[in-house]
Amino acid sequence: MTDLQLIEKLCEARGASGFEDEVLEIAREYCKDFAKFEEDSMRNLYIVPEYNKGGRPLVMLDAHSDEVGFMVQAIKPDGTLRFIPIGGWNEKCLPSSKVQVYTRSGYISGVIAAMPPHLMTAEQRNAPVSYSTLAIDVGATSDKEAERFGIEIGAPVVPLSPFEYDKKHGILHGKAFDDRLGVAAMLMCLKKMKDCDSAVDVFGVISSQEEVGERGITAAMHRVKPDCAICFEGCPADDTSAPSYMIQDALKGGVMLRHMDATVICTPRFTSFACQTAKTHGIKVQLAVRSGGGNNGAYIISANGGTPVIVAGIPVRYIHTFNGIAAMQDVESNVELGVALLKELTGEIIKGF
Ligand SMILES: [Zn+2]
Repeated sequence: MTDLQLIEKLCEARGASGFEDEVLEIAREYCKDFAKFEEDSMRNLYIVPEYNKGGRPLVMLDAHSDEVGFMVQAIKPDGTLRFIPIGGWNEKCLPSSKVQVYTRSGYISGVIAAMPPHLMTAEQRNAPVSYSTLAIDVGATSDKEAERFGIEIGAPVVPLSPFEYDKKHGILHGKAFDDRLGVAAMLMCLKKMKDCDSAVDVFGVISSQEEVGERGITAAMHRVKPDCAICFEGCPADDTSAPSYMIQDALKGGVMLRHMDATVICTPRFTSFACQTAKTHGIKVQLAVRSGGGNNGAYIISANGGTPVIVAGIPVRYIHTFNGIAAMQDVESNVELGVALLKELTGEIIKGF
């Protein structure tokens, strides 16, 4: 599997929070020649490379497998589906978007219904988007028919947004870039370390349910005791919305190292070390200070009596909508920084964090 194929497969995988199985299958396939796996009941996947020597400081690489999605709440008499969000959406992008709905025989296509303007009253035109009035339409004409389609209450729903790679410009288009690009970068990094010298051992955690409150990593941190951790994330690019002096996560700007967000102040000495390492290796980084948002680092940093953590973000335009845009070179910078850190970290340096 090439790196691009890995990215494509991961982004096309259907994995709303709690239903991440397809992502794990792809990760297992990609790593099967150099790693062993464990999986827990929350669908956290632990990837332990066979090249580890043992008895050395342990570095955890983390990326979350889930994507924002929806869940079918009820089937209406007209055959359309009432649903609720899984994770935080920009609701304004929902009407008229295509989705995939899980059925007993696999996913089928649907659309989030948008009324033709001919049928709308002035009041409906001006009303805000609300889950209480939205519905998913799979083409069924009654609740009985929707049931015959194999749709059940509790069915997960994800966007239907085909993956595209614009090779000429190095641009990725698709869904779930938060955090499948992080998963891809993490897996590529684990694979590259096969051929690198390092003073530390490493393992990967593909954690579940980040989008609903970092639930997977919370369980995982009861099971693993790393000496430090790197979170690979897909982060909201701000270069088409912020004033120039506030742009901190630009497309093609390289790895975003996050000093803080609403949930975590990343370990400052580790962040400084990552900046320095990037400089030494000529890897592009950009520094971000966020007042909102959150990530798995929030749980890692205070787990097991304190675990040094940094967040390495890949800029993604329009995350938590149906169509994201990202740059291949930013994914590559993330992999390069991960590899550089694993080569440079030592027990002594980690103790100094
Ligand atoms: Zn994320």
